Amino acid sequence: MEPLQPPPREVTHCPACGAPGERLHSGLRDRLFGAPGEWGTRRCSAPACGLHWIDPMPDPLTLGELYANYYTHGEGGDEEVETGVRGLYRRLEAGYQATRWGYPAGWAARCAGALLYLHPGRRAGADTRVMYLPARADGALLEVGAGDGSALRRMARLGWQVEGVDFDPAAVAAARAKGVDVRLGDLAAQDYEEGRFDALTMVHVIEHVPDPWALLTEARRVLRPGGRLVLLTPNPSAFGHRLFGADWRGLEPPRHLHLFPPRALAEAARQAGFSQVRCQAVPRARGILVASRMLREAGRVDPLHGPTPTQRLWAEGMEWLEWLFGWWSPEVGEECVLIAQR
Ligand SMILES: [Zn+2]
Repeated sequence: MEPLQPPPREVTHCPACGAPGERLHSGLRDRLFGAPGEWGTRRCSAPACGLHWIDPMPDPLTLGELYANYYTHGEGGDEEVETGVRGLYRRLEAGYQATRWGYPAGWAARCAGALLYLHPGRRAGADTRVMYLPARADGALLEVGAGDGSALRRMARLGWQVEGVDFDPAAVAAARAKGVDVRLGDLAAQDYEEGRFDALTMVHVIEHVPDPWALLTEARRVLRPGGRLVLLTPNPSAFGHRLFGADWRGLEPPRHLHLFPPRALAEAARQAGFSQVRCQAVPRARGILVASRMLREAGRVDPLHGPTPTQRLWAEGMEWLEWLFGWWSPEVGEECVLIAQR
């Protein structure tokens, strides 16, 4: 196997706070997309921080080759044509989103949508589908890591003026083919004017970038004063990580460079100058947990076959468990949701 050029570098101390890192995993390989190399992780020893990072750290110049077989585009069908049970479920979800976030829906859907308050995992899913954003007619929304533009198209249908950025040319082409304005490259390269956006969202992006702190600073700059940042990322303090260890899907070596537990993520946002920072772990768990279970049992995640009915049922139960544990240990949910204001 060809060594990476230049080689990965050892990072023994926390990139966020400088405290020493404890070795957590070693001998990790990329079992999802087959990138070369052997990797490990460390966890910051400072209790107030708790950041996890990959060690050795891939050189930023070689990041491209870690994504050679990576797939960010084409997942998810066209939601405008969802019918049957799924179509009905989307109407129920729209009813919940109307009550919770102010989007339009009829009274029958609103009544049905109240059911989601009884199901924490699915409720977090419904919140995610509107990106935890209250309705705002003609609000300017930027999604960093927009992929094939599915989420932006959904938000455009809800009244947002949408734009996106993505580093994957195939994803950008797919988004543009659907009529979504997605630019190629990273956020800083776009050189947006200050204060241009009412909202900025990043779903599973911050764990991939070499300098998450610079990304947060730039995100704040392009938001207007009072504008909202919404950011989702896998939570390394999650129950699933404790349960599955090195098989936890959220590790994704070597593409996940930094993993932020809620307190470290909130601190990073405050350091970047955000105010009214709220960060919590949510039990939106089924994707991560099912994939972790596949990694443990089969050593790989089969992208062509979804979970079996048994795995679905198990994931459902796990989501409820995480919600229950969350009452006395609020950091156990699989995903961190950060909401902050410029
Ligand atoms: Zn630290």
